[in-house]
Amino acid sequence: MPPQSLKIDHARYVLTLDPQRRIIQDGAILAENGRITRVGKAAELAEARADRVIDGRHLVITPGFFNGHMHISYAHPVRGIFPDEQASPLVHVFNLQAAMTEDEEYHTTLLGLVELVRNGTVCFLDPGSTKFPDACLQAYEDAGIRVVLGECVTDQPAPFTLPRYPAPEAVARTVSFLAKWNGRLDGRIRAWAMPFSYETCSAGLLESLKRVVDEQHTGLTLHHNSGSKARQDAVARHGVSPTAYLESIGVLGPNVLLAHCLGLDEAELDCIARTGTTVAMCPVTAAKGGRGVPEHGRMPELLARGVRIALGCDSPNNSNHLDMVRTMNMAAIQYKDARQDTRQIPAEAALEMATIHGAEALGLGAELGSIEVGKKADLVAFDTLRPEWQALWNPVNNLVYNADGRSVHTVVIDGRVVVDAYRQAFVDEPRLYARVQEIGERLQARTGISFPRSRWPMS
Ligand SMILES: [Zn+2]
Repeated sequence: MPPQSLKIDHARYVLTLDPQRRIIQDGAILAENGRITRVGKAAELAEARADRVIDGRHLVITPGFFNGHMHISYAHPVRGIFPDEQASPLVHVFNLQAAMTEDEEYHTTLLGLVELVRNGTVCFLDPGSTKFPDACLQAYEDAGIRVVLGECVTDQPAPFTLPRYPAPEAVARTVSFLAKWNGRLDGRIRAWAMPFSYETCSAGLLESLKRVVDEQHTGLTLHHNSGSKARQDAVARHGVSPTAYLESIGVLGPNVLLAHCLGLDEAELDCIARTGTTVAMCPVTAAKGGRGVPEHGRMPELLARGVRIALGCDSPNNSNHLDMVRTMNMAAIQYKDARQDTRQIPAEAALEMATIHGAEALGLGAELGSIEVGKKADLVAFDTLRPEWQALWNPVNNLVYNADGRSVHTVVIDGRVVVDAYRQAFVDEPRLYARVQEIGERLQARTGISFPRSRWPMS
């Protein structure tokens, strides 16, 4: 049983991300029955007792991180197989994903969860990649993580292997998925509708799914837009931009999360802001995939319009890592370079997207995303007794520009310590690593998808 109460005492800094964005030096946090009951100076909480007390003198505490777009399913066992000239090998990606067995997906998911929690992520949205959620449920429970899950559906042809059904069946499958999954694991699982994209779904299917999520007070996410080619295709098919098309069929709003969102024009930016639609952007995927952030990236304009943006890592063969600290770093630096302007995406904005704004983008901001009394106790403690944290004057700058997920010392979800002084307790990591390597070998042999392992001679 987890302790009923937990206190982090004398934290070097607490970055609350509360409405005033208070940063508390020599701070303390008390969590009872999974919720934060007190936050303040250590001296103010001196008399507060707890079942467990963590000495925070070397720790910087932040809210837990939200990963708003992350395919957990297929990539870990074949991470890094694609040579750089195959930067976006989508056909292979979806064939590998389609070939995963239940056992393979379970172990792949376990490895993804280890990487997520050890890097401070407390909640991730998998946009419908997981084929065997029943098999993965135990992994989610053991890891203690929050998951936004759904079943990927389409009803139109696609250039790669995606689950495709007649529209009524796709809707029925989504309805039963929501009924089965929403609220499980003490509310840590949320179920959403997950049509793959507007290109692969009919207007009728998208409209029906939006009606379902409106009625059931849940969310819908889809891949959206990627540069000028996608725009030309949308204009050719629908006569309007991709975003205007979605608005015309009623598929925008605060419960719709658009993933990637590269290549938006001014009218689309206004439309997203006007409708309260939220966005998940994957800055490392954009950079590594050569997606043209200087030309297509509009993160500063979305933020200026008040749009809630979550950060995502996409697939571990796109960003290649599941580290939200590195993702924040990329978000903060890539627009400075793209616009040749160091005022773009301050470190504070990057941290907001990974925490409170990410939670809001996923519809979870009332309960999560900041360190405030009444919110759920999801916390990350960074270890400052490391070279990259020296010298320490502005903890937000140190976190976003100096650190990475390797200084995540302790992670708390629902008041339960899930990473304790760098260690998680739900899986034997060396055994899991060997297993996933074997799965990768089998998967490549079975699908015939493999590439020369190195440009350099490997003996
Ligand atoms: Zn995706």
